[in-house]
Amino acid sequence: MAKEELECSFCGRKKPETNLLIAGLDAHICDRCIEQAHGIVLEESKQLEGNDISAELMLRKPTQIKEFLDEYIIGQEHTKRVMSVAVYNHYKRLLQSPSEDSIEIQKSNIMMVGQTGTGKTLMAKTIARMLNVPLAIVDATVLTEAGYVGEDVESILTRLLQAADYNLEKAEKGIVFIDEIDKIARKSDNPSITRDVSGEGVQQALLKLLEGTVVNVPPKGGRKHPDQKFIEVNTENILFIAGGAFDGINRHISKRLNMQQVGYSASKAEDTVDQDNLLQYIIPKDLKDFGLIPEIIGRLPVLTYMDPLDANTLRAILTEPKNAIVKQYKKLFEMDDIKLSFTEGALEYVVEKAIEYKLGARGLRSLCEEVLTDAMFHLPGTKEKELKVSKAYAEEKLSKTTLKKLKAVS
Ligand code: ADP
Repeated sequence: MAKEELECSFCGRKKPETNLLIAGLDAHICDRCIEQAHGIVLEESKQLEGNDISAELMLRKPTQIKEFLDEYIIGQEHTKRVMSVAVYNHYKRLLQSPSEDSIEIQKSNIMMVGQTGTGKTLMAKTIARMLNVPLAIVDATVLTEAGYVGEDVESILTRLLQAADYNLEKAEKGIVFIDEIDKIARKSDNPSITRDVSGEGVQQALLKLLEGTVVNVPPKGGRKHPDQKFIEVNTENILFIAGGAFDGINRHISKRLNMQQVGYSASKAEDTVDQDNLLQYIIPKDLKDFGLIPEIIGRLPVLTYMDPLDANTLRAILTEPKNAIVKQYKKLFEMDDIKLSFTEGALEYVVEKAIEYKLGARGLRSLCEEVLTDAMFHLPGTKEKELKVSKAYAEEKLSKTTLKKLKAVS
């Protein structure tokens, strides 16, 4: 066959009519057909992704889920195990076909109690990253009852839709992390004194979402408006994770523990209570005493706690997770061909200051930023190819004023 007679075996275009004609064994394909075929492949794989999402997720067993969490999160063994099982069961539930028998597996929505900066958000983010499902992080403090200034609870689902690029099927299997859930606890035991705008009303509104219902969601957010088109979102298979510091809940826990001790085992010395980490004894009743309504507690049946971060954990957080802060800075310097290293003394000093100024894990990044800013400004473009951060160097960069400033913003 003469060269000019070649044609695309799919659309029949002659070679001169194409930009590119690729030869196979017995056939040819032109650039346009390749693009079209590519589009079909993408479309098909998108559909498959939607359908098989839970089957794919089930490939990870709880021990593997925990291994994944271990790569990013230091410590928090208890919560990691609890989360791994809850997430696994959640997706098992999605795979269950409704007709099999009458046993309906309840949703394993999760409640995480722990001081701020102990990794609650990180936990939710890591789970979502592993499962490759959309995640919406919302702050319960901005939520109010419908009709009051603030956001309706439906806005939570608007965020989830946005995180899923408006792919409804994906959003309906996504994860919602509701932070600061403790801030919508009822303030007083007598709910009738005043309207409790941000308290019980919001809890009631949230309840519906947690239970699993179809909600009319304004896709662009904002207040419900008669002209706005809604998207119907079914929350039945959305995994809700709630987190909160529950400041002061230790009082409830310790009171309950004391009463138990008096009641049953006053003489048993082995029942000594670890006063430094009372959260580990938390039970649903403590949440109720704190001001959450029993129905909400019931809809967040998996209750777990975060351990406070001690110096060893903070030290590990600096260097061990897959995207540890120190690794990130090393990478940044590497891009300028500069080898960055920290002495052990410098790392310990940073941890010490994070504890002394009560900056927690979140403060570690700001501290490193302060230590390295000058170098990040001066070194690029110079002949310097190495920066070794010693304790003395870190001390020099972290003046008292800087530390006070960091404490003020944290
Ligand atoms: P919380 O939601 O409990 O307030 P975050 O998840 O926002 O806390 O944690 C703040 C930052 O501290 C995270 O971005 C993370 O870098 C770090 N961090 C906290 N706890 C851990 C942990 N256990 N392992 C690794 N990093 C952590």
